[in-house]
Order: sequence, then structure tokens, then C-alpha cells
Amino acid sequence: MTPEEARALAVRAHRALAAAGQSDLVWGHAAVRDPGGRGVWTKAPGWGFAEVDDDRTQLVSFDAEVLEGEGAPHKECHIHLEILRRNPALHASVHTHAQAAVAFAALGTPLLPISHEGALFGGADVPRFTLTGRLVRTPALGAALAETLGDAPAALLPKHGLVAAGATVQAAVMHAVLLDRACQVQLAAMAAGPVRVWSDAAEAAAKRTECWPPAQLDAGFDHLARKDV
Ligand SMILES: [Zn+2]
Repeated sequence: MTPEEARALAVRAHRALAAAGQSDLVWGHAAVRDPGGRGVWTKAPGWGFAEVDDDRTQLVSFDAEVLEGEGAPHKECHIHLEILRRNPALHASVHTHAQAAVAFAALGTPLLPISHEGALFGGADVPRFTLTGRLVRTPALGAALAETLGDAPAALLPKHGLVAAGATVQAAVMHAVLLDRACQVQLAAMAAGPVRVWSDAAEAAAKRTECWPPAQLDAGFDHLARKDV
């Protein structure tokens, strides 16, 4: 992959997140690892997901310096820098303020595999970053968040939003999309009454493999990315 391709993927990632309904005005961002190891390609501050194009991107170094593009980096760039610094196998990360994720996290209840999306975690609960509900604006907070995420596809930030990561851009974006949708489904079920039916651990683990192999994540991402937002 060339740097130009990484930047193009970063643009598509933001547009896919917009199509998935995860925009929060001009806040939140995705990041794609620079193939040359210089840092991450992400969006410039001041733009919504749907507004991102090549000229509204930045290459931000692992020391949070803007190497290409205009202006300062997003305050919460440390989320991506530390997640991608911690695990070289990850290629991309996402941070949004998806409303269903925030609402669900406020309930303090386990995320259950009651849908295909909910099986993303294979029957385990979603990790939660509880150190702070404030902005993740320092390397130390970013590193702590990266530890909380660990090897999981995504994590909730109670009082704030979500993070997701993946070995591909497609996977990182889809992990964010699936977590948000899993939260939406469980919120709807809980609003209607007690939740009584969900996959046991064996079924959830099987569904994780069956429903969410890389080809499925790619297909979902491509669908979102080609929507006109
Ligand atoms: Zn945030």
C-alpha cells in the first residue's frame, strides 16, 4: 500500500462512518496506519465525517505532530496513536461518539449476543474504559485505553463513545458499526421488556466466525462507503 492509498482509505472510512450514522457534528475520527511507519492518516479537525476528502486529511506522527495537512491534530489523536503503537498487527482504528453506544454504556449492563452484531464479541462482554469520561487527550490516557481495548474488536467509553480497531480499515470501521448496532438492538429489547433470549457461549463463538469473517466485513464496509453521504 502507498501513502496515497492509505489516505484514500482514511477518506472512505470517514464516509462509511457517516453513512452508518455515527457522525457527531465535527467530532470523532478514524485513523489508518501510514505504510511508511510515519504515523497515521486521519481527518483534519473542523470537518464532519461526510465532508472528509483528500484535502481534509492529516498525516499525524506518533509524537502527535502534523507531518502533512493543515492545522493542529485532533485533541484525541492519542487514541489512535497509542492503539496502533501498542499493536503492530492493527492497521486502523476508529473513535466515535455513537449515541446508542453512549446510551447503552450508561446502563452498566453486559452486552449480550442477542443479534448477529452482538455476536461480534463471541459471547464475551465488551471491554469498557472506565478511567475517565473526559477527553482522551494525553498519550498516557491513550495508552490506558489501548490496554483496555486489548485484542478485542471494540470497546465502550462510558460517558463518551466507542473505539474500534482492526487488521484492516474495513474491519476497524465495521467493528465500530457492529458495536453501535448491537447497542441499538439491546436498547430496543430492554426498552420493551426483560431480555430473555440470547446465544449461549458456543453459539456466539460460532456466529462470530460465521457472520463476521473478513469478506463479510469488507462487503459491509464497501456498502457503506459507496453510499452517497
Ligand atoms: Zn471523543
